[in-house]
Amino acid sequence: MTRLWPRHVRSRMTLWYVLVLGFLLLAYAGGASLYLFYSLREQLDHDLSEDVERVEGLLENTPDGMVALDSVHHGEDEANMQRFVEVWSAEGILLYRSPTLEGETLGGPPRSSAEGNSQRSPSTVRLVDGTRVRMATSIHTVDGRRVFLRVAHSEQGLWQELEEFGSVLLVALPLALVLAGFGGFALARKALAPIDAMAHHAERISAERLNERLPIENPEDELGHLAQAFNATLARLEAAFDQLRRFTADASHELRTPLTAIRSVGEVALQAPKSATEYRDVIGSMLEETDRLTRLVDSLLTLSRADAGQIQVQRTDISLLGLAQEASSLVEVLAEEKQQRISVEGDPALTVSGDRLILRQALVNLIDNAIKYSPAEAEILVRVAAGNDGRLIVEVVDQGPGVPQEHQSRIFDRFYRVDSARSREWGGAGLGLAIARWAVEIHGGQIALESVEGQGSTFRVALPTTTTPEKNGREEAST
Ligand code: ADP
Repeated sequence: MTRLWPRHVRSRMTLWYVLVLGFLLLAYAGGASLYLFYSLREQLDHDLSEDVERVEGLLENTPDGMVALDSVHHGEDEANMQRFVEVWSAEGILLYRSPTLEGETLGGPPRSSAEGNSQRSPSTVRLVDGTRVRMATSIHTVDGRRVFLRVAHSEQGLWQELEEFGSVLLVALPLALVLAGFGGFALARKALAPIDAMAHHAERISAERLNERLPIENPEDELGHLAQAFNATLARLEAAFDQLRRFTADASHELRTPLTAIRSVGEVALQAPKSATEYRDVIGSMLEETDRLTRLVDSLLTLSRADAGQIQVQRTDISLLGLAQEASSLVEVLAEEKQQRISVEGDPALTVSGDRLILRQALVNLIDNAIKYSPAEAEILVRVAAGNDGRLIVEVVDQGPGVPQEHQSRIFDRFYRVDSARSREWGGAGLGLAIARWAVEIHGGQIALESVEGQGSTFRVALPTTTTPEKNGREEAST
């Protein structure tokens, strides 16, 4: 099936423009023709009523009891204009009929004795041959005799003028529409050309060239606005792509380290025969690396599922103190290895509505860091309290080395480590705090660090009592 409606905006605009203009021109032509018709007819009626008076002055009785017109003047007039005259007696006898009527009837006998009284309001009648005439009637007295006088003028001139006007319109209107169509099309093309250029430019921007931007000629107009919006989207895309690239590169790098370790441990072990104890050691360190790999893959999976919004937040009312105790008991064994002491204190009545597992993961990561980075026999304090602003606070305070000021703003970024070599030594890939921040933020909370280098760190989690969900998490009905 052929498409009748044009595909391009410029063609559609032109079509609309021509249609609207055509409609307006037709309305105008109709109005103008009506106006012309009525003013020509008014002129005709005016001439007619003047002529009735003139004819009245020409009426005279003839000896045979009929009526005639003063032939000298009448002859001239009649030649000049197409005039039709009938004179009837009050009894309905035809007293005179002008030769122009060629024997045809103009109006017939008077229809009533009142005809002609209403001061010659003209009407349109048709002669027998179909000619349209404008007819006025009057009652006149010729030497004491009351007669009905009918005078009519042909409408031919009027219709001829109207026809001429119509034929001018018939040529002018389509011509005007065609010209307007071409003009409209050219204008529409000119107006839309920048959008075409923008589209071509945008087509050239691929994932590899996301740093390119559309040129903005005038930021104030609609096109400038469009280009700005498009550029802003490009900027966001570029940032997202960059982040993804960095994430992929960092993740591959982190995955390679334990893999390389497993491989080299295996290769070294294979170089020479070993005792059973030595093989056990080799397998032990391989398993250690595998553990590290598993933890890393788990963290990566958590973050990518969080990014994709695939993790469902299942809310329940949780006692924060209970949660802190649970988290610390999960990592207690690590603290014991370093003879560290974890104290958990606070009000057990403080409850928060949130996802137990996700919030626990955040606390585990914080306490795990406190253990990792604090020296042996250090004290670690986990404190639960109500904040001044109505939020609930969980603080993890350690006696570790602290975080230097210049690193504090980036410490929650993915793969960010203050000292890569040392952190990796303890098994960290720089994802623990990123996961903790995500976990707190999807509960509508905030996480912050207060630390002075050499004097320990305090990680503070603030959670709203009624939590509002944030980005990258899906809510499930609370249980
Ligand atoms: P990692 O798995 O390497 O510990 P995190 O995201 O948990 O990664 O921490 C990022 C970095 O922040 C760590 O490498 C470490 O340098 C620093 N950091 C985290 N917690 C502490 C802390 N309690 N004391 C000192 N430094 C810390």
